[in-house]
Amino acid sequence: MTCQGRSYCGHPRVSDVGREVRMTGWVDALRDHGEVLFIHLRDRSGIVQVVFSAEHTPPQVCERAAALRNEFCVAVTGRVVERAKDTENPHIETGHIEVMATDLTVIAKSKTLPFPISEKAMLAGAVVKGVGSVAEDLRLQYRYLDLRRPTMQDQLIKRHRIIKCLRDSLDEQSFIDVETPVLTKSTPEGARDYLVPSRVHPKHFYALPQSPQLFKQLLMVSGFERYFQIVKCFRDEDLRPNRQPEFTQLDIEASFVDEEFIYELSEDLMVRIFEIGGIALSRPFPRMTYHEAIDTMGSDRPDIRFGMRFIDATGIFGNTSYGIFKQILKRGGCIKGINVKGQSENLSKNVLQNEYAKQIVPGFGAKGMTWMRMINGQLESNIVQFFSNDEQRAIIERFRAENGDVILMIADPSYDVVASALGQLRLHIADRLGLIPQDAYRPVWITDFPLFNVTDEGITSNHHPFTAPDRTDFDPADRRSLLALRSRAYDLVINGEELGGGSIRINDSDVQQKIFQALGLSDKEVKEKFGFLLSALDYGAPPHGGIALGLDRVVAMILGTSSIREVIAFPKNRSAHCPLTEAPSVIAHEQLAELGLFDPAGERRIAGTQEDLDLIDSLSWVSRIGIDDKERPEIAAALKEAARLAELVKERAGEDEPLFSVVNATNLIRKGAAARISPLAENGELFRNAPSVKGRYFKVASILE
Ligand code: ASP
Repeated sequence: MTCQGRSYCGHPRVSDVGREVRMTGWVDALRDHGEVLFIHLRDRSGIVQVVFSAEHTPPQVCERAAALRNEFCVAVTGRVVERAKDTENPHIETGHIEVMATDLTVIAKSKTLPFPISEKAMLAGAVVKGVGSVAEDLRLQYRYLDLRRPTMQDQLIKRHRIIKCLRDSLDEQSFIDVETPVLTKSTPEGARDYLVPSRVHPKHFYALPQSPQLFKQLLMVSGFERYFQIVKCFRDEDLRPNRQPEFTQLDIEASFVDEEFIYELSEDLMVRIFEIGGIALSRPFPRMTYHEAIDTMGSDRPDIRFGMRFIDATGIFGNTSYGIFKQILKRGGCIKGINVKGQSENLSKNVLQNEYAKQIVPGFGAKGMTWMRMINGQLESNIVQFFSNDEQRAIIERFRAENGDVILMIADPSYDVVASALGQLRLHIADRLGLIPQDAYRPVWITDFPLFNVTDEGITSNHHPFTAPDRTDFDPADRRSLLALRSRAYDLVINGEELGGGSIRINDSDVQQKIFQALGLSDKEVKEKFGFLLSALDYGAPPHGGIALGLDRVVAMILGTSSIREVIAFPKNRSAHCPLTEAPSVIAHEQLAELGLFDPAGERRIAGTQEDLDLIDSLSWVSRIGIDDKERPEIAAALKEAARLAELVKERAGEDEPLFSVVNATNLIRKGAAARISPLAENGELFRNAPSVKGRYFKVASILE
């Protein structure tokens, strides 16, 4: 079967009427009218209707066509004809024509499908059942079928266009695509590493890169000046719905640049690729400091598609007699609120008190929420009577409250709790009331992050430890001054989603060393982990900086898909499992042993494997004797018998008559069975696991020596 002279299903138009065509593809749908059979033939380019009719199609072809089923792979020859008026199909681009079949070859049959693939109705006005209700794991198990669906094909083709656009644009600006290693050393980005054991260096591991960070910096030291890569990164993080253990980044680095260069470059790229999805982003993207983002929206990835910024109300209650606020302020706390404009009709007392104050807001980490509605020029709520007239007036003024507004406040001794809970409340309310414009795309740069975060163990880098601080004269032992440092990092956020981030880097080994010290790394650890970086920074490292964009997320946003898995050909499911290949999977003891990772003297069991199988495998490994699958049940029975006897021995310990004797022993296990010679001994398979064999002998495993 050749494709020579092949026409594509999605191409013929009325201008092709009369042409003879040969098309290949899959049977998307069928409609059988007895005398006439219609099929939708689908290839990557689209769908065309093919007609098999007793009038125009040879009888033997009609006969073959009658046996067609969904998703058979076929070749069809026929003539393009214009459809009769009122039989056009607006669902497909070729809907004004159809192909009168003269020949048909069934290239490959298909089994009954696990879920529907067809997405285009054969009749005007008809609706097709999609995969909406199909379990995602089933789709992933048969991903090769799921990917036949036009929607999935379109998404992956658009992903290709977006990546091509990025490559072309970067190439135009002299960026060079350089590949960096996948088997490497840990590259800290705040997640756990995926480790790969080395066979040739037993008990040594490579790490899969969390990002190519250090290599791209080394490329700058090497003088490439402008680097990019569309690269897989691996992070072993806790499961979250929109996360994948491996994901794709657009990774960029440039020398002799500052933040402005990166903003300019990234904005240009984003505008270009969003255009592919028909979305116009306006430039320049606004900027917001980390402090402002947290203080007014409660998040370092704020959704700026709508307002509802926080208003600080702490000052209003300095002399309050309202007990709860008084206590909180006494403990150095704060009170912040939002004004939900004109929504009092949609937020009843019941919803505010019983849903938000009692359930939803405590779920965000705050103890409660204070609510007030502005009705007839007065504040109204369950606690307003506790506020003085002055306080009420000040609230109205500070929140610019008007009739119909709802004021929500959160108070807590901890600023972080107030910011975070109010931030989540802001999003919840806006979502519930439909206040977020769905077709708006609002990028924002978040800048001036703190360089370090406080953790239970000490401090950690907010981005990664190679990020340049805003000043270099800090003392790595002075925790207070360390926590006051800002970084030269920036995150790109669109509609509340972090799509990328980067920074200007440290290019001075002394400063880099001070950062490592501040993070509490010993000299030995620094040398072991980052010695090569420090050494490179000693050879004329240029100033440099870069950024990485999470491509799966960017593509999902441009295409408006419900999850990033919709724009990845073969993703893992929400549990980081691949239903198609069943990865990750248990591996055989032999393989573990070869990697020096299986110690038969230690734990006999490996999590996730079956106990019996393990024991037999480890016995086989320890004894260096190959075991045939057929022998397994016998050995399993013998092991069971041995365990029973061992119990007996234990029970009878101390009795006069010993159970076993070294001479004249009866075969207690295989009662009187005649000794047999294993076929494995005859064909030499018996020595399969032996490290070395000499004549009829083999070397015993060192553990037994
Ligand atoms: N390596 C960083 C990341 O993967 C990005 C960067 O700093 O360029 O998030």
